[in-house]
Amino acid sequence: MELHLHLEGAVRAAALVRLSSRSPDPIFPDLAAVRARRRELGSKEAFFGFYRDVCRQLRSPADYALVARGLVSRLARENVRWAEITVSPAVVEKIGLDWFDVVDALERVFLEHERKGGGRVRILLDLVRHWGPASAARVLDLHAVRPWRRVVGFSLGGDETAHAARDFREVYRRGRKAGLLPVVHAGEWAGPESVADALRFLEPVRIAHGIRAVEDPALLKALVKKGVVCDVCPTSNLRTGAVSRGEAHPLRRMLLAGVRVTLSTDDPGLFGTTLAGEYRRAASWGATGAELARCAATARQAAARTRSYRPR
Ligand SMILES: [Zn+2]
Repeated sequence: MELHLHLEGAVRAAALVRLSSRSPDPIFPDLAAVRARRRELGSKEAFFGFYRDVCRQLRSPADYALVARGLVSRLARENVRWAEITVSPAVVEKIGLDWFDVVDALERVFLEHERKGGGRVRILLDLVRHWGPASAARVLDLHAVRPWRRVVGFSLGGDETAHAARDFREVYRRGRKAGLLPVVHAGEWAGPESVADALRFLEPVRIAHGIRAVEDPALLKALVKKGVVCDVCPTSNLRTGAVSRGEAHPLRRMLLAGVRVTLSTDDPGLFGTTLAGEYRRAASWGATGAELARCAATARQAAARTRSYRPR
């Protein structure tokens, strides 16, 4: 099970070089250039710069399909039986592509993957926080025009410091009413108050990251009481500068407090990681075998929750 995973961030290094080579002045002329960009990571700014440069290489629905093929082949290798992949219609439109053309291209890849027994793929629609509530509403509009049956939920992502959670209250109300599972990126770069605001105004079933909740014991208790699952991505938190050192990562404090935690890769192509790699990293920070088994069990329960989600 992998629940926190962005398609645009899943571009493998070789695919990135291939896509980039069509430009007269490629940003990623070879694998060494990709590795160099990975080494430069360590801050939010460097991460968004890398992410933007990757998105700039996507110029057609076929490019999206190429990325999706690379992603599902990795999921198959790791025997991931259920993946919730976040895809950004707003980024697709920003690039100048038609969302429904991209949906058709992606659907073919995911369908083939499932037919070959590669595990289930479901989609979360990305709402880009720093593009504001109108952009987020537009994503739900697109889904209402032609619902993609593979879509099970939506997730507010992007720069957490750009807009307050309450600005998206109406969008979340609408998404929930449409039967879509509400997920929010919070407590990554912004503090515990961002997690508290997400809980209060957006009522998510899951929080992407949520790690800074450890700074507020009452908030940890609230997460436990509500049963909100936090999809934590250890490598991502290091590479984006959310956490400075692995030993300081809040994962174990969250687990010890009883928070329901799952592990994911977030942007495996950008960070050069795998799901097994995330478990190994968590173990290297002291997570016990029992704790890691609990993360895996929580992921199975969270996937079951997605399957049974009904609007209130
Ligand atoms: Zn994410």
